[in-house]
Amino acid sequence: MRCPYCRHADSRVVDSREADDGQLIRRRRSCPECGKRFTTVEEAVLAVVKRSGVTEPFSRTKIMSGVRKACQGRPVDEDAIAVLAQRVEETIRAKGAAEVPSHEVGLAILVPLRELDQVAYLRFASVYKSFDSLDEFEREITALREATTAREAAVRHAVATRSGGRAPKINS
Ligand SMILES: [Zn+2]
Repeated sequence: MRCPYCRHADSRVVDSREADDGQLIRRRRSCPECGKRFTTVEEAVLAVVKRSGVTEPFSRTKIMSGVRKACQGRPVDEDAIAVLAQRVEETIRAKGAAEVPSHEVGLAILVPLRELDQVAYLRFASVYKSFDSLDEFEREITALREATTAREAAVRHAVATRSGGRAPKINS
């Protein structure tokens, strides 16, 4: 690694430390020419393989801009988008592969986006799944409705079960 101070072509590692749960390695280096010290960070590159076969580094920023576009005009703030992008990255990294097909990234976005905002989800899904007819929107909306109804029913059931049983009488 070239010294950033004097541009000397070589440097010596004086300390290596893992950071970010082992995803990064920080190295403290010393320049044998000018004696100054500097830090380098090493990170394994997670590559996304596009349909065309071209690979590009995974980018959380790119995920965020895609999701932001889908969320235009929706009551979703920047923080929520950042959290979503982080979840996507965690999902992708948890697969433990160095290369991930782009459609898996899309899928990893759809799941949390559906929880975040259903309209944004539909917009994103229509592009990602390349809907080309109203039928496909209709199917997706039906699925969304069913999922919502099921969730509401589950909540109602949980509430009913909790309040249905007689409260234990204390001391009488
Ligand atoms: Zn130097």
